[in-house]
Amino acid sequence: MDEPLDFAQVCKDIEDHLVPYLRLGSGERAMYYHLLRHSRAEGKRVLQISKRVLARNVGTSATTVHGHLRALEQKGCVKIVERNLAGHSIEVLTPAEIPGCVRAGMAAEVVAVEGADCFKNERLRAAILRREQNACFYCLRPMATGAAVFDHVVASAQGGDNTVRNIVACCFECNSRKGEKSAEEFLRELYRASRLSDAELDARLAALETLQGGKAKMENGK
Ligand SMILES: [Zn+2]
Repeated sequence: MDEPLDFAQVCKDIEDHLVPYLRLGSGERAMYYHLLRHSRAEGKRVLQISKRVLARNVGTSATTVHGHLRALEQKGCVKIVERNLAGHSIEVLTPAEIPGCVRAGMAAEVVAVEGADCFKNERLRAAILRREQNACFYCLRPMATGAAVFDHVVASAQGGDNTVRNIVACCFECNSRKGEKSAEEFLRELYRASRLSDAELDARLAALETLQGGKAKMENGK
């Protein structure tokens, strides 16, 4: 048996860090909670389950289960230890165990960079790009370092500042198309144009809320 987990903290880490930063879609999130419930909440790291049972338990098809499981594995949330006739042996990691998901001492670092002006600090801009995992904050398109632009979530004209809570890295196209729209309005526009899936829209709206709530994962630009 493992040490008992502090589940209140685990839930906070999932919502504040894991979901926005690993860009978990709603289906992946549901499956992750289910797996966690039947492994770590029972004091075991590894859960043995078949895709058929998993599909039934989370109310979806085996094909969808396959896709979500693969995504969770690629994002480092689970490890498929073994596949056999009885099903999958799945090791389930908590957010704190996933490298880079929840950084120790992160809160202090956030405070240190909270008030700083991103446009005057190159290291902060590099840190923002890492926070966005080198993808456009809005449309999720991967970006080369030189291709990113920095966008005010709330425009300066509407009182938005230059701090890490209000600056995101995005692609040139999103930066120019967003204009004076609110970030939420623009994300919904991308969704209507089929540039974001349902799950991606949900994840971006959650990331936006996390960012503006000051809970976004930042490092001190070191
Ligand atoms: Zn974009």
